Order: sequence, then structure tokens, then C-alpha cells
Amino acid sequence: MAADTPPKNVPTRRALLTGLAALPVAAAAAAAERKERKPKKRRPAKPKVQHVDVAIIGAGVFGAWTAWHLLRAGKTVRLFDAYGAGNARASSGGESRVIRMGYGADTIYSDMARDSLKYWKDLSDTASAPIFHNTGVLWFGPQGDAYTAQSLAWLQANRVGHEHGDVSWLQNKYRQIQFYQGETGILETEAGALIAARGVQELIADAQIEIERVVMPAPLFSKKTKRHTLPDGGTADHLVYAAGPWLAELFPQQLMNKIVATRQEVYHFGAPQGDTRFAPPELPVWADNSNNGIFYGIPDLEGAGFKIAIDRHGPRIDPDTMERTLTAEGIAEARAYVARRFPGLANAPLIGGRVCQYENSSNGDYLIDRFPGQDHVWLVGGGSGHGFKNGPAVGKRVAAHILDKNLAVEPRFSFATKGTAAARTVF
Ligand SMILES: Cc1cc2nc3c(=O)[nH]c(=O)nc-3n(C[C@H](O)[C@H](O)[C@H](O)COP(=O)(O)OP(=O)(O)OC[C@H]3O[C@@H](n4cnc5c(N)ncnc54)[C@H](O)[C@@H]3O)c2cc1C
Repeated sequence: MAADTPPKNVPTRRALLTGLAALPVAAAAAAAERKERKPKKRRPAKPKVQHVDVAIIGAGVFGAWTAWHLLRAGKTVRLFDAYGAGNARASSGGESRVIRMGYGADTIYSDMARDSLKYWKDLSDTASAPIFHNTGVLWFGPQGDAYTAQSLAWLQANRVGHEHGDVSWLQNKYRQIQFYQGETGILETEAGALIAARGVQELIADAQIEIERVVMPAPLFSKKTKRHTLPDGGTADHLVYAAGPWLAELFPQQLMNKIVATRQEVYHFGAPQGDTRFAPPELPVWADNSNNGIFYGIPDLEGAGFKIAIDRHGPRIDPDTMERTLTAEGIAEARAYVARRFPGLANAPLIGGRVCQYENSSNGDYLIDRFPGQDHVWLVGGGSGHGFKNGPAVGKRVAAHILDKNLAVEPRFSFATKGTAAARTVF
């Protein structure tokens, strides 16, 4: 329900106050006296029972953008989250995420990212503080890498802003990074970083919807009303489960081992006082494709420090009960990498960090499909470490399916293509 739209026939607080002011003083006094003499029995408040077009379970980046698009299309929506929007356990929590468009041969994601960027920019323009930081994204690695060449081809073909060059171009441009012989790179000039948890919260404010903090069960369907029943007795025509790493636990029979939550760590190092080389505009978002697992980082945004993470799957975890403390081995690996690539930060203190999780599908592709055999229940997830940037496009696609029941499901996002093999890494 939109926060500023009161239910029909219920006077608003403002209308009540205006009405009271219009009463003649004597009548008001008499009414007050009568009230005093004969106290009215209070009826217990009726539970909130309402019907909506769509109930969304999960106010992470996928659920929130789905709500936003549906509300813009005139649908009535309720949005539920067990812990709140962009909460500390959610995959959409924390400070920042990368948005880039070069995706190798996976141009389906390049197109989504380009579309999503417009929505993020619009949100950022009207938010209380910026959500999108146009830092640029520098992708670098060994020459001859197919992924890099395919990304460059897409950027060129689609006239998306970029620069590229060899190791001397890289080294001249970014003296604070140590490059090695034979490396090459692309700078996506239109890309950058998104503010994560606050971005989701700003989006929900922009959608003008209230989050209901409820732990939602798997779908309940009333044969009598032919509607989905919500725990408070309300009903909905459609249900969208955008429960991120919790999807498999809600639907174990369908999704166990198909959406797998893995433990991921991020580290923030503090540059020396007054050293601006590791903050925008001097340093863009960067990703180093020359290792076993991509190392990537975000320059110091909003004073959070120089962020670094490794795009390599950690052990399987439970997002409810996982202890979120950084490991000594993880910190040591990050420090060793920083010393090699960013010598100016070799002795930088660790000033923060975060443990969160990827919700990996078997092949890294998102899941946007109907629950098997149920036309009005949607499963949306499998962000697989690269879902945040594409939240707007994912939400748009889910909304389009609900608005047009004949719209075909994209095979790559279908339930049928989700297997149980080890997931590929992308971010
Ligand atoms: C370390 C790290 C770095 C990342 N980097 C990037 C990046 O640079 N770029 C990028 O694009 N992506 C990145 N990602 C991936 C991206 O953040 C995720 O793919 C995305 O946030 C997933 O969003 P979601 O809405 O599917 O899930 P979530 O954000 O987890 O939202 C699911 C919500 O559902 C709620 N919920 C679950 N079960 C229930 C229930 N039964 N009832 C009610 N509510 C429920 C939860 O409380 C939660 O808020 C990164 C992820 C991590 C962990």
C-alpha cells in the first residue's frame, strides 16, 4: 500500500483536524461533556485485511525494484521483509556495489546494465544523497583475454563511453596501481559504483510503499476465494518471492542446491591522511582479471575507505545464523594483494569490513520464472554476486510478466535451466 494513500472511507488526520476546527465552540464543549459522562466502549481494532494485486516477499534490490515498477504501472502492492529493507543480513546490504556494462559474451547482462543505469541515475538525482557515483570502472588483465575483447566489442558497438589501452596507457593513467608487462585494460567511463543499503531504502521511499516486517511462509492459496492468502487474512492475485539467499529454504523441494548461499568477505583499508589517490576522481572502480578469482575494488566513497573483495565463492552458509566476522586468512590475502597492486596502501590499516553472501545459481544466471505449476507465483533471485546493478531491469521484467501473462520467460532466467552444478563466478 502506498504510504501516502489512506484506505477509502477512513478520514485522514488532516481532515479530522480541519473538521474539528469548524465545529462551533459550544457544540464541541457539549460533545466533550457528553463524552466525559458516558465513556464509549472501545472496539478492538480490526485486523488489516486487504486485497492487493501483488504481494512481494523480500525488499532487497530485486523485490524493491519490482514493487517500484508495479506501483508505477498502477498496481496495488504489499511489500514484506523479515528484517527490513537492505538489512545487514540481506545480499543487498552494506555500502557499495559495482555497476559496469562490459560482460564478455553475456550481452544479455550488458543490455540490462545499460537499462538499469538510467533508473539508478534518476533515483540518485532525486535522493537525499547520491546513490550512483560515476567513478568509471577500470577492467584490466592479461592481453588476449576473450572476455575483455568481447566486452570491448560490445562497448564499441553500442557506443557506450570507454577508453582502452595497453600496459603503458594503464600505468601512465593510474600511477597508484602497479601494472605488469602484457596487461591491457578498458575504462568504462559511464559506469561506477552504487550505494547499496541506502540505495534500496531511497528506492522504497521513492516508491512510496511501507515495508511490512513479517516472515512470510511459502504460498497459501484459498480454493474458496481463488486468491493467495496472506498471514493477516489479506489476499493477493500474484505473489513474487524475491527472497535472495533465503529462496532455497522457502522452496527446498524446488531450489535446494540450485540457489546456494556462499560466504563472501569485503575489506576496507584506510589511506594515509590527505592522500587522495585512492578516492574518486583519482581512482575509479577497478577489477583485476589476472588472478584465480577476480580481485576488485571501489575507491573511497563517503569516507568508507578503499574497498577490496575477491569474486570467488566461499563456503556455503545460512544467512540467518552465519557469524559475520572477517577471517584472519581473508584479511591476509587482501593485504598481500593490496601491497602488490597498490603499493601506497601496503601499510594501510584495515578500517572496516563486511561478511555477506552471494546467492548463486548453478550457472550464474538469474532466476525469473513462475513457481512450477503455479501461474501467479514468481520466483526471483539467483543474483549470483552480480544482481545489484541489474535490480531495475530485473524488477521491470517481473512487472512486465505480471502485466502481460503471455510474455515469454527468458530461457536463461527459467527454472528449467537451473541445475545443481557448481556455479560460475561473475560480479
Ligand atoms: C560481497 C558482495 C559483493 C557484491 N558485489 C556486487 C557488485 O559489485 N555488483 C552487483 O551488481 N552485485 C553485487 N553483488 C550481488 C548483489 O548484491 C545481489 O545479487 C543482490 O543484492 C541480491 O538481491 P536480492 O534482492 O535477490 O536479495 P536480498 O538483498 O538478500 O533480499 C532478499 C530479502 O528477502 C527477505 N526475506 C527472505 N526470506 C523472507 C521471508 N520468508 N519473509 C519475508 N522476507 C524474507 C530478506 O530479509 C531480504 O531482505 C554482491 C554481493 C555481495 C554479497
